[in-house]
Amino acid sequence: MNYDMLILRFGEITIKGKNRTRFENTALNHVRRLLAAFPEPIVRKEYGRIYVELHGVDPALIVPKLQNVFGINSICLVKRADTDLEQIQAIALGFMTEVMAAQGDRTVTFKVSARRVWKPFPHGSQDMNHLVGSPILRAFPALKVDVNHPEINLHIEIRQDGTYMYHEIVTAVGGFPLGSNGKAMLLLSGGIDSPVAGWSALRRGLEIECVHFHSYPFTSERAQQKVLDLAQVLAGFAGKIKVHMVPFTEIQTKFTQVGHDNLIITLMRRSMLRIATKLAEQHRAMALVTGDSLGQVASQTLGSMNVIGKATDIPMLRPLVMMDKNEIIEISKNIGTYDLSILPFEDCCTLFVPKNPSTNPNLRMVENIEAYIEGLDEMILEAVRNTETVVLQDGLDADTEAEAKGSIPEHEAENTPANSIVKESSKELEDSWF
Ligand code: ATP
Ligand code: MG
Repeated sequence: MNYDMLILRFGEITIKGKNRTRFENTALNHVRRLLAAFPEPIVRKEYGRIYVELHGVDPALIVPKLQNVFGINSICLVKRADTDLEQIQAIALGFMTEVMAAQGDRTVTFKVSARRVWKPFPHGSQDMNHLVGSPILRAFPALKVDVNHPEINLHIEIRQDGTYMYHEIVTAVGGFPLGSNGKAMLLLSGGIDSPVAGWSALRRGLEIECVHFHSYPFTSERAQQKVLDLAQVLAGFAGKIKVHMVPFTEIQTKFTQVGHDNLIITLMRRSMLRIATKLAEQHRAMALVTGDSLGQVASQTLGSMNVIGKATDIPMLRPLVMMDKNEIIEISKNIGTYDLSILPFEDCCTLFVPKNPSTNPNLRMVENIEAYIEGLDEMILEAVRNTETVVLQDGLDADTEAEAKGSIPEHEAENTPANSIVKESSKELEDSWF
């Protein structure tokens, strides 16, 4: 099919006024970024929708990209006519000729849904249904009118500056425009779940930065690269993503020495949350996001989540908490993280997995063990201090900004090459936590 234009329609943004404009502009920028490699299409926002004039570009090349724009619910593939009865009739007939060519001889149900948005146009919506529909029905005996459930519903939108016709509407990802709901820290492991949790957070309009805990040299550099590769996929949705790589070896080793093997995972998770919370403060993120799914493993029972969650005082968002593994896997395949996630590199948590991890740890006992471990608070601060930050771009942006030092506001950051590793500096945080 030969189309002139796409109409991108927003989803559930019910907010009015200034914020609505901000939300819409965020999605508009996202569309512009995704189409930066295509010089032809003209993107504009009007009447609370986004229009993409194709100028010869095959929609099959760009629609799959645009389906990923957060905040967009559907995309209509449009033919345009001047707002003039004869031209509308002629183009609608030509449009249906193309549609019917693909249908063979079978009977196809059909209706016209005209909408006169521009009131000075001399024919009302009902009239237009007949004026456009009759010549089409005469031309194609295989068409049968069905006003309730037509296979082809030819929409005709009559506006002053042009009339838009479409019958193909593809669904898009929906949610809220990127970053329109604030920022959160994603705890990103190399597994299947946390990248899906990250994507879910992005779709909900959260900007995310990632925190990954590694136990180098017990875990390999390739294991770290796997996490960066996963974050790179997320950057494809977000444009840019920072990944904070936290050295966790020392803390983890300490936990293996306290003689409570069944609590190692609980202790590790609590320290991860403490470190992630400090990084969240430092980078002005207001929540933590994890890939926890209720009951999946010992650390994800209600009892464990309670004791682990007490280690932070900022909201813990668990987008996957009620989802089945199959649903999570399906999303991970759709967003392109699954094949990376199943690569067999070890994670820090798989290194010292105890035989019988506690499914119902006792908070008092866990706190006592933590208090007993000499220097744990200092080790946590040290891990934050030694965190390295990698900035990943999705490869579409021309500029290669990267963050310089942890607590410097973004606009003051020095420019460094994309995907560079930058040492965190966070001395000023030492006093603020413990
Ligand atoms: P995933 O598939 O996301 O690894 P999982 O089913 O393996 O999840 P766990 O290993 O229990 O579950 O981890 C639960 C959550 O804790 C993860 O989804 C992630 O958010 C966080 N997490 C676990 N290990 C790490 C790590 N090494 N670095 C950062 N976050 C981690
Ligand atoms: Mg895991």
